[in-house]
Amino acid sequence: MRGIAAVPSYVVMQPTTLCNLDCVYCYLPLRAVDQRMPVAVAEAVATAVRPWAASGRFSVVWHGGEPLAAGREHLAALLAPFGPAVEHHVQTNATLIDDAWCAFFVEHGIRVSVSVDGPRARNGERVTRGGRPAYDRILTGVAALRRHGLPFSALAVVSRPEPGLATELYDYFLDLGCDVLGINIEETEGVNIRTNARDAASVTGFWAELVGAWRRDPRIHLREVEWSLRYAGAVLAGTADDLLPRRLDPIPTVGHDGSVVVLSPELAGFSDPRYGDFSSGNVLTTPLAEILSGAGRTPWVGEFLTGVEACRSSCPYFGFCGGGHAANRYFELGRFDGTETEHCRNSKIRLLEGVLEHARDHESPAA
Ligand code: SF4
Repeated sequence: MRGIAAVPSYVVMQPTTLCNLDCVYCYLPLRAVDQRMPVAVAEAVATAVRPWAASGRFSVVWHGGEPLAAGREHLAALLAPFGPAVEHHVQTNATLIDDAWCAFFVEHGIRVSVSVDGPRARNGERVTRGGRPAYDRILTGVAALRRHGLPFSALAVVSRPEPGLATELYDYFLDLGCDVLGINIEETEGVNIRTNARDAASVTGFWAELVGAWRRDPRIHLREVEWSLRYAGAVLAGTADDLLPRRLDPIPTVGHDGSVVVLSPELAGFSDPRYGDFSSGNVLTTPLAEILSGAGRTPWVGEFLTGVEACRSSCPYFGFCGGGHAANRYFELGRFDGTETEHCRNSKIRLLEGVLEHARDHESPAA
């Protein structure tokens, strides 16, 4: 894996910067402001995406702010230029989902992913602008999805890994009815400056326990655990070198104003005296394909690629991780060419260690 691919496998779109919630750990800088994406931005992205979608599966991920806060009428206008060739996904806090939104998801073939951190007592940091718990509203939205028979994914943030939590969460999400689950250990990122330094044994133990809970009833696609098992299987088969893509997926995030940030959606909306606004161009003035083919020349991107090479030569986990995320390096280390971060310890190194710990603890004595 060297450098950045010219063609992404998906595009992230920000229909509005606004979010109707105000979660304590949120990284978004402009979530109180409703800056909406003009239709011209969607038209420019759709023009670029058409040939990519023609040669295989291609996804557009609507991510905010809270994308549903843009309203159905505006979101429909943004979806229209893409036509039927792409798969649409929305990452939502679910609080606005009702019957009309469910009909909208069906009409536009949108796959829904809901952000929820587990049972009520685990959702204390997902709050409204008035500081009140959002949990009941989240569940009302999920109930609407279930009423309409719409499959959905879930994404949970874990702030304090502790014994028993992984089992509690996995059982909760089985009951909730999601078919895919992603778990993020809270990250120090954007305007969330809380430390994400965690006790190593607690985090490793959390992942090990999660593997155990999943193995007892593996009905849910558990994102992190399945990645780890695929890697472990490839190591055993001697094919681990083939797992990482030849080049990094650029994952362009198109901001509400058409600016394009590659590799890390979390950098969108920020600026720095050294790196400027992190964007590699704007789709209103330059075709997206041209922006992506020149993205490697964006100064911070070059620095990040140096960091990836440092990871490759120094980290035994590189084959699994591929060098981590740009935003975590920037927000934790203040630059892009460092290597280990608390994020990669929590979510890559200890994840793999947890899977191995589970395997060791459940090894057959006869094996
Ligand atoms: S685990 Fe951390 S140090 Fe290792 S390759 Fe990934 S980002 Fe780099």
